[in-house]
Amino acid sequence: MTTATASSGFSVKDFLKSFMLTELFKGMVLTGRYAFKRKVTVQFPEEKTPLSPRFRGLHALRRYENGEERCIACKLCEAVCPALAITIESDVRDDGSRRTTRYDIDLTKCIFCGFCEESCPVDSIVETHILEYHGEKRGDLYFTKDMLLAVGDRYEKEISAAKAADAPYR
Ligand code: SF4
Ligand code: SF4
Repeated sequence: MTTATASSGFSVKDFLKSFMLTELFKGMVLTGRYAFKRKVTVQFPEEKTPLSPRFRGLHALRRYENGEERCIACKLCEAVCPALAITIESDVRDDGSRRTTRYDIDLTKCIFCGFCEESCPVDSIVETHILEYHGEKRGDLYFTKDMLLAVGDRYEKEISAAKAADAPYR
């Protein structure tokens, strides 16, 4: 029942609703309904929510167990990156294998799409579960090869576990 005069815009229904405080009571009913339900909020950062093995956080470069870096400088990740965030330079080593001499990711450009990880034929570049990092100036989020390898060295156990957990779905 919206008995309103088109000219004044007055609505009896709206007037009664505001007079009877129905919106207030509806809000209180809703609050009451959820007051005793199981809480879904968590006290971050002390409490954490579960992360998928496919979570795309901070990047890392991985090594093989013998310490050799996995990256073969094929540059597929650089080519596929839609944000042009990866810069690679490479050279041939004395043993004839090609390796990167420069591998940089500008995380201020990165959109965390995961294409670099998907494209890598040797599981070298990966995105880890690490989400709590920051930079205080632009250069802090420019990750060089050494920095990326250091992340990989530090979190290899977690990276391998996430890869293993995700493997049945690939
Ligand atoms: S996650 Fe996407 S945007 Fe970021 S470096 Fe990899 S390919 Fe580029
Ligand atoms: S990280 Fe992977 S895709 Fe990128 S250059 Fe190295 S081997 Fe190729």
